[in-house]
Amino acid sequence: MAFLEVKDLEVEFQVDKKPVIPLKGISFEMNEGEVLGIVGETGSGKSLTAHAIMGLSPMSGGKIRGSVKFADQSLLELSEKAMQSIRGSQIAFIPQNPMTSLDPVYRVGAQIMEGLLNHADLSKSQAKQQVLDIMGKLNIPKPEHVFQQYPHELSGGLKQRIVIAMGLCAKPRLLIADEPTTALDVTVQAQIVRLFKEITVSSGIGLLLITHDLGVIAQICDKVAVMYAGNLVELARIKSLFGTPRHPYTQALLNCIPSIGMERGSLAAIHGNVPSATDCPDGCPFHPRCPHSYSTCESTMPALIQIEGGTSVACHLYQEKQE
Ligand code: SF4
Repeated sequence: MAFLEVKDLEVEFQVDKKPVIPLKGISFEMNEGEVLGIVGETGSGKSLTAHAIMGLSPMSGGKIRGSVKFADQSLLELSEKAMQSIRGSQIAFIPQNPMTSLDPVYRVGAQIMEGLLNHADLSKSQAKQQVLDIMGKLNIPKPEHVFQQYPHELSGGLKQRIVIAMGLCAKPRLLIADEPTTALDVTVQAQIVRLFKEITVSSGIGLLLITHDLGVIAQICDKVAVMYAGNLVELARIKSLFGTPRHPYTQALLNCIPSIGMERGSLAAIHGNVPSATDCPDGCPFHPRCPHSYSTCESTMPALIQIEGGTSVACHLYQEKQE
């Protein structure tokens, strides 16, 4: 059985008393120690998926449907109290902007220690030693000194490492990282990506990595889920996705990656925008932007089907081939 099994995950909330469904029945599985990347443009539902897995709705009164099985537990059936103890201990979340997790008026060491003391029966001196050990493993220079510093005294890369230390201190089995490198410069990005790879390999932690950066995906992931307008449109192993992208949206995303030596002015772009959840077109939501769109695409939503090589794709072109 998969270590994380997400089935028909859906989020619904009300806008002007009308139901809006920004996440529409996502299904995927992850094994222990695996790195799954979720990629797509802003508004595709990546962060919503991460929050829904943790039982968090983007709006009060929002409903989360479907099932999330994690380490033999059905997360969406647990009480909020039980979920709170899972968040932070078994599932850790690393946000895009470290400043949203760090309190500017407390020293960073105390903030990491707080998470550890909440989830483990340790004395303060034992907790401090564990925090210093984690900081050392994350290559934080002079951990004793950084332990005593305030967030504003640290660089962006160090702040992100502190947030990762906060996530790791309770020894979670699953790490969910939401655009963890977006706010960082390229050299620090490379360090953080390497760090994630080391953590998953050395400790067997599963990593669900949300990003719009296909370069980061290529470096670290085992599998990739491509999302568009709240739907999962392609799920594939990394080699297959980059070697033979199937869905027209995946192909378009890969076409947008600039390469060294390409001619000036030849940078590709996908025309148009991701539709909003309140104004999604009928049929395949990608049809207004798709170069292969035909009449069926405008009226009928394609189902996610499995094709060769373990890839799954939601596109009528492949359904027709199978039929
Ligand atoms: Fe394009 Fe049609 Fe496939 Fe959608 S279903 S991606 S519109 S070909």
